Amino acid sequence: MSYCGPCNRQFPTPSALEQHRQTSNRHTYDCRRCQEAFKSRSARSQHILNSPKHNICADCSMDFNTPEQLLQHDVAKHNMCEPCRSYFDSPSNLRNHQKTHMRKTTEYNEYVADIAFDCHQAGMYTCDDYPDFDFKCPTCDTPFIFMSAVLQHVESDCCDETLAHGRPLAKFLRFLRSQMSS
Ligand SMILES: [Zn+2]
Ligand SMILES: [Zn+2]
Ligand SMILES: [Zn+2]
Ligand SMILES: [Zn+2]
Ligand SMILES: [Zn+2]
Repeated sequence: MSYCGPCNRQFPTPSALEQHRQTSNRHTYDCRRCQEAFKSRSARSQHILNSPKHNICADCSMDFNTPEQLLQHDVAKHNMCEPCRSYFDSPSNLRNHQKTHMRKTTEYNEYVADIAFDCHQAGMYTCDDYPDFDFKCPTCDTPFIFMSAVLQHVESDCCDETLAHGRPLAKFLRFLRSQMSS
């Protein structure tokens, strides 16, 4: 049996249902993907714009099943920068733009590193044993290049070190906040 939801009717075969959809006035403005019937073309357009099942690229008149597929399409075809959702004329313009993201991250990491060395807790989490690593976990001594990586490590469950009050990294974060606000 095949069932037409909008009409609340059963049909003996899928092709009978298909036949019904094509001939019934009620189905002139069907959304095929959602199997919903609409009263007018504009009601259907409204549905397509608002439904999470429809992910539209207006430029290409394409309709994707999921937001992820639309995102991939935007990145591949329209040179979209994912983090800022802005579009670029060419892949090379996009790459140039993305360099500014990298530069900002590097500048930020260097800025945080300077403050980390100024903090009177520095001896607890700075690392002298490896030339490539400036920081380490105060508890397990795992070396890290960036302070942000130490914090991620401590926030994860893989180590007993914590950001609890009075711990070296909690003191560092308080120091960092006071430096950033001044
Ligand atoms: Zn029907
Ligand atoms: Zn739909
Ligand atoms: Zn497109
Ligand atoms: Zn960007
Ligand atoms: Zn650790």
